[in-house]
Amino acid sequence: MRVSVFGATGSIGESTFDLLSRRDDIETVALTGGRNVTRLAQQARSLSAQLAVTAHDDCYLALKQALSGSGIEVAAGTDALIAAAERPTDWVMSAIVGAAGLAPGFRALAQGATLALANKESLVTAGPLLMREAARHNARILPVDSEHSAVFQALTGEDITTVERVIITASGGPFRTWSKAQLAGASLAQAAKHPTWDMGQRITIDSATLFNKALEVIETREYFDLRPEQIEVIVHPQSIIHALVGFRDGALMAHLGAPDMRHAIGYALNWPERAALPIARLDLAQLAQLSFEAPDPDRFPALRLAREVMELRGHAGAAFNAAKEVALDEFIAGHIGFQDMALLVERTIDSLLSNSGLTDAVESLETVAAMNQMARDIATRLASRMTSSGA
Ligand code: NAD
Ligand code: MG
Repeated sequence: MRVSVFGATGSIGESTFDLLSRRDDIETVALTGGRNVTRLAQQARSLSAQLAVTAHDDCYLALKQALSGSGIEVAAGTDALIAAAERPTDWVMSAIVGAAGLAPGFRALAQGATLALANKESLVTAGPLLMREAARHNARILPVDSEHSAVFQALTGEDITTVERVIITASGGPFRTWSKAQLAGASLAQAAKHPTWDMGQRITIDSATLFNKALEVIETREYFDLRPEQIEVIVHPQSIIHALVGFRDGALMAHLGAPDMRHAIGYALNWPERAALPIARLDLAQLAQLSFEAPDPDRFPALRLAREVMELRGHAGAAFNAAKEVALDEFIAGHIGFQDMALLVERTIDSLLSNSGLTDAVESLETVAAMNQMARDIATRLASRMTSSGA
């Protein structure tokens, strides 16, 4: 099987690399990364890739040097990422973080490849577009988010019209039990430590605000074509149950497993077969207890914002994600506080409400990119006011 991995040097990328390294039937086409060219070159040599691409033009020479004598092609920049996505392959892992992951995955669909989609931002910003593109080219999108892989697995062999509801779980993040007053002083270091999952920095902080779960609610709607009111979120601090599907006969099918993304990645890699995977087996007696609680919309407004975005439809997902990305950057830079992130996203959406483009149907990558840029500009402007007023 021919494979390409976009975002190979990240958290999902490394887990994918681990699984690919254990197989002897893989032909690696392209691997891409960012500034970590040393690691990208190691991976490319180890998997004998045809091509290695860094997203940054100024990293080209370093990557070229790291791969000298290997015979592996080297390229750099955004256009090179797109060209890499157009190389014939059978299976593509989309694991770039953020809106930047949309275009390469979209291009991979056009050649009919199976898209293993970790980049949830693709569905949040351009769900209908991506689904249409997949159908047009007879390409398949397989979820690589633990919750969505769980739902996908629970739905196998079921009739989607018998589904009453889907419940995705949230760990609640590091601040699950914190008061609003405590949240006001939450630091970057505290937000960047996840209680149960080991992930990239951005998604880890998104888990602390519950923005990750907000993105995932929208992602659920796009994958499974459900009505927003059919999608529920439950806080489950142990992260053992990843999702549950409720059917019209009252049955709830739950998916349980250790918090290890290699399960969802491996499921997508081996689909439709279920191959052996190096995942820790659960000892339920030792776990002893699984607990659940309702998410608190007062301390964590992100889920409410996701509901508004689903009502608005159109380009609201792209605006929501873009504003969230800016808010995250501003928090990481120390310009705004933890709770300002949700405030900034809400203000950005509010200021776009009078813009007709917000609710226009998603037509193309270009309209999504335009909304992305507009929302980023507004959020950046609003953030600078927050910084100066201290609010
Ligand atoms: P990460 O930050 O660890 O890695 C991101 C990868 O993308 C790196 O290879 C980086 O070099 C590359 N990259 C970053 N910005 C880029 C850009 N502008 N252009 C091109 N490449 C760029 O991220 P991650 O935690 O692996 O997450 C990747 C995606 O998977 C995200 O969309 C995330 O929401 C999703 N996801 C991650 C996990 C997890 O356990 N980490 C779980 C579910 C879903
Ligand atoms: Mg998830």
